[in-house]
Amino acid sequence: MPFGDVTHNLAATVEGSSIPLVDVVVASCVIRFGLDGELEWGRLDGRGLRVAAEELQRAISALQHHQRRVLRLVEERRAYEAVGSRDAADWAAGQLGISRHTASEQIDMDRKLDELPHLADKAAAGELSAEQVKPAIELAADTIHGDGDDGEEAPAGDGGMAERDRRLADAAPSMSVATLRRRAARRRRPAAKDHAEARRVRNFESWTAGQELRFRGSLPLDDGARLLKAIERQMPDRDGTTTPGQRHADGLLALASATIAADADPDRATVVVIAELAAICDDDPAATAELETGQPLATDTARRLVCDSRLSVLVQDRDGRAVGLGTTARTVTPALRRALVVRDGHCRFGDGTSRRFLHAHHIAHWPAPTVMSNLALVCYAHHHALHEGGWHLTGDPFHELVAVHPDGRHSPPNHPHHHDHSDLPPEPTAPSHTGPPGTDTTPNRRRAPLSGGSSPPPHRPAREPALFADSG
Ligand SMILES: [Zn+2]
Ligand SMILES: [Zn+2]
Repeated sequence: MPFGDVTHNLAATVEGSSIPLVDVVVASCVIRFGLDGELEWGRLDGRGLRVAAEELQRAISALQHHQRRVLRLVEERRAYEAVGSRDAADWAAGQLGISRHTASEQIDMDRKLDELPHLADKAAAGELSAEQVKPAIELAADTIHGDGDDGEEAPAGDGGMAERDRRLADAAPSMSVATLRRRAARRRRPAAKDHAEARRVRNFESWTAGQELRFRGSLPLDDGARLLKAIERQMPDRDGTTTPGQRHADGLLALASATIAADADPDRATVVVIAELAAICDDDPAATAELETGQPLATDTARRLVCDSRLSVLVQDRDGRAVGLGTTARTVTPALRRALVVRDGHCRFGDGTSRRFLHAHHIAHWPAPTVMSNLALVCYAHHHALHEGGWHLTGDPFHELVAVHPDGRHSPPNHPHHHDHSDLPPEPTAPSHTGPPGTDTTPNRRRAPLSGGSSPPPHRPAREPALFADSG
């Protein structure tokens, strides 16, 4: 007796009761296979076992078809919302013990079967297992690109798909999963025109949301592999506190920073930050800083950016007059950076040990001088802590630095890689040029708040501030 008939007959028995479906199935197995009240499969002989396995598979296949349909209805009617799930796959992952991927795939398969009525009938009758249905849908549906190479290709178009649906509904139930998958894979084999299409739809778009830059895009697979490789080469090591997503984001950022730093045309490769002098030099809460595109930045962030990257900071007074320009890729020269790497060797914040992706932090913030005695290499996370997190470094970077927080916390002392700096390269000296063309830097010294009595930073380097100097 086919499974459908069994359930039909049982319906009369269980109608109006609350017997769980699984008990109905167990009862039907006991009756169907003469198992004498218990699921004692051992009572069956070899032939009985083979028949049982076949019939159970058909029952499972049919139930899976209905499961796909029910999941799809959960999705379409948003039945997941009442229990707080994001979508049907999310709900299924939490409640059904199947993965999000499987749940989404099942819903997708049911949708595709709408256009393949013959295959759908066979699946509902349990004649096609879930494993067979998937490649059969691929073979029948119009979703496969490339040319058929097995001589069975029906003409493209709706008539073609209907014809393939009919033919596969006949053939697929007796085809092995391996054969169906192999044929689907052969049809799926990408052709040159698929790559051309992937290239045609290539895309990158970005937009801002608050202090976030968000983006999405699409690349052909091979180009995408290159992008991923480049990001992975720049990714920080696993450290137990960051997620893979965060490390990929850091890798992408490091890739961008390296590209900008290596750009031969600094003027075009420079990101411009426009900040009021008071935002950089004082803690004036009313002072503003923004990207040249107009998005506002926290003043702490603007100060961190001034420390070390290919960024121009156009400093304005209250009336919007440009009073100077600090360009940090020019201030921390390659020679100075090499000297810092030799001296510090690693992140100089607390017990920091990072050796990669180090920023040159100004211990007394810019426009204090960019000299060895006012610089320390710190990792991105600690650089963030030093500006946005309120920490500051105290001490002598040649000997011992301690990170201190206003709430009284302080880090263990951090020593440079080279305690004895007699073997260090000589400190680079400043060139005389003091600013880009058109920028009169002379008045800036007079406007420098460091001479106007704002509260002194914890470590005041001995040298006179070289305000807006290119280097030194
Ligand atoms: Zn800094
Ligand atoms: Zn660090």
